[in-house]
Amino acid sequence: MTRKPFVVANWKMNGSLKANADWIETALPQMSGTRLHCDVAVCAPSVYLSQLVKGFEHSATLVGAQNCAQYTQGAYTGEVSAGMLADIGCDLVILGHSERRTLFGETDETVAEKVKLAFDNGVMPIVCVGETLQEREAGQTIEVVSRQLRAVLNKVGIMPLVAGAVAYEPVWAIGTGKSASAEDAQAVHQALRAVLAEVDEEASKRTRILYGGSVKAKNAPELFAQPDIDGALVGGASLKAEDFLAICHCA
Ligand code: PGA
Repeated sequence: MTRKPFVVANWKMNGSLKANADWIETALPQMSGTRLHCDVAVCAPSVYLSQLVKGFEHSATLVGAQNCAQYTQGAYTGEVSAGMLADIGCDLVILGHSERRTLFGETDETVAEKVKLAFDNGVMPIVCVGETLQEREAGQTIEVVSRQLRAVLNKVGIMPLVAGAVAYEPVWAIGTGKSASAEDAQAVHQALRAVLAEVDEEASKRTRILYGGSVKAKNAPELFAQPDIDGALVGGASLKAEDFLAICHCA
């Protein structure tokens, strides 16, 4: 089973109309399907998604949000629903990022609810799982990431993940410059695929599991060479188009 690699930029709370326009201008010529051997997505703050949808309209580049509401509509001041993301042409949404879990109190249940709403609205979820340093040191990595993944599988099954992706992001590797070793990451990816296979073995082989946490062009080739690592979710190194493209070229 060959899975097409998938490389996703997570800009987090960065960007401006001008900086985004420059990024698109630099990246666009290289983002045509013939130049890259991977699928590519850019996930931006919601206020800039329309700019990206327009900027990438004649390319295969997908556009993603970084969160959506756990409600459909109504009196939820400040929230953006999955239906609204679909309405403006957004393809994807990152859900359950560790920054959302730790800074904004998202639980396994909230994440599962959001995945359901996203998929129901035709927005493909990229579901993030990952352990903290404390959990890793306590030998709980597989237990934690399996629990996070099962919460989603129990709610929505595997199809939203086949359409979107799973992203393994060890919390201690995010933005720290300390990436997991390719072997350690592979072991976790393999365990995650086994959890997916409990639900549907055939579909588990079609689900892309991305690695995230200090991915750069330097460590990407080793990570991408692992049998269960199907691409990357890239934070810091996605802010400059050149750096991000260099990672895409490793896939
Ligand atoms: P990083 O972030 O590449 O800056 O470590 C990855 C992420 O949080 O998605």
